[in-house]
Amino acid sequence: MTTHQVQVLSGAQVVLPTGTVDGGRVIVDGTKIAGALPGTAASASAPAHHTLDLSGHWIVPGFVDMHVHGGGGASFTSGTAEEVLQAVATHRAHGTTTMVASTVTEEMDVLASRAALLAELVQQGDLAGIHFEGPFISPCRKGAHSESLLRDPDPADVRKLMDAAHGTAKMFTLATEMPGGLDSVRLLAENGVLAAVGHTDATYEQTVAAIDAGATVATHLYNAMPAVGHRAPGPIVALLEDERVTVELINDGTHLHPGAFRFAYHHAGAARVAMITDAMDAAGFGDGFYDLGPLAVEVREGVARLVEGGSIAGSTLTLDKAFRRSVTIDGLSVEDAVRSLSANPARLLGVDDRVGSLEPGKDADLVVLDADFAVKGVMRRGAWVLDPQVG
Ligand SMILES: [Zn+2]
Repeated sequence: MTTHQVQVLSGAQVVLPTGTVDGGRVIVDGTKIAGALPGTAASASAPAHHTLDLSGHWIVPGFVDMHVHGGGGASFTSGTAEEVLQAVATHRAHGTTTMVASTVTEEMDVLASRAALLAELVQQGDLAGIHFEGPFISPCRKGAHSESLLRDPDPADVRKLMDAAHGTAKMFTLATEMPGGLDSVRLLAENGVLAAVGHTDATYEQTVAAIDAGATVATHLYNAMPAVGHRAPGPIVALLEDERVTVELINDGTHLHPGAFRFAYHHAGAARVAMITDAMDAAGFGDGFYDLGPLAVEVREGVARLVEGGSIAGSTLTLDKAFRRSVTIDGLSVEDAVRSLSANPARLLGVDDRVGSLEPGKDADLVVLDADFAVKGVMRRGAWVLDPQVG
């Protein structure tokens, strides 16, 4: 009666790496997936178990968010460890069972001490790593980052933050065209940390150079970078056309026109898109006034903007909404949505040996959706975060 509890989830449409099975079965043993199979018949030799009939529902892998700043009224950039866990819990209840903590621009020493706190939460398994967004970004494309604190991507400074994160740094967003940019990309790539092109004013050619140096991610493609011009295609075209790059997209209907979302999606293909939230504190919480690092933000009708200047300041998105929108409005298949919300970000973050798909031996991280793609249940490591039998 300790950890060895077998649960069988039966009757649902189960999205496996090989495709969807109707009336499939997911067998959860303790914290792990023991089997994910077609058919509902229980095996005669199965140990005592609890069966839950989920007919009429979908079971998909838990979502993986590689770019998120907070939620539930709390932020990853400020506040106590308990507040960070409050943000984590909010996103988990919406199906995100794996997430990194994204920071915003702050003083270097503030970021370094922040990294130390977040690293502990990575080590205890609540976060999958740290994404440093800023301060190494372009003043021309600063978005909701504090201009006076921005700096060039000097590899020595990048190294300082990597060291402060004690091996838990997963990604840096850089304006790679700035002095030190390409050397920083090389430093990150050599250390197995993702170099992401973003908050950038780079040309097409400068972006190609960054990719050749080892950059493999586009930070929220389209947002905080020059628009496409037919003689100056800029970073968007360079990032979309290179097979080595995965593009982040914020599919909340505010950050991107649905046509721009679909254009990028179809050009990059399902294997090269990672849907992210870029969520700030108000996600899963509500309208009102918030701090984003040192800047004040007002959230009205779910849209976050800087009080000063009115720049969009992150989203209030949760990944269940992005999933639902992608399938019901943008016409993605459920299987492609699963790639973009689970498998691809898990692979990029290097955690696909444990999460990102429903396969035996992986963590029992899964989301139960109803026929309208609303979340009815969330399981993480074999335990219900949101129990489909309640509510
Ligand atoms: Zn962000």
